Amino acid sequence: MVLAGNHTAQALNAHGAGDCGHESCGVCRNDPSWTPAARCEVVVCDKDAARRINIVDNRAADLGTYDFEALADPRRPG
Ligand SMILES: [Zn+2]
Repeated sequence: MVLAGNHTAQALNAHGAGDCGHESCGVCRNDPSWTPAARCEVVVCDKDAARRINIVDNRAADLGTYDFEALADPRRPG
């Protein structure tokens, strides 16, 4: 069960391996050999702890912001 990063997992599954065919894809960079991958941590916990992890992950996203200037910087690695 994915407790945090559900959207990342969904995006990787939706994209699939290889070049997705979208022009200038920021995910695979149109590399036909690209393999979907994400950091993963496995924890063993009870349902209550799992619920708390999920709530904190969602709340952290609510409180977060984006640095649009940095994201738009063409010198930004990525
Ligand atoms: Zn792609």
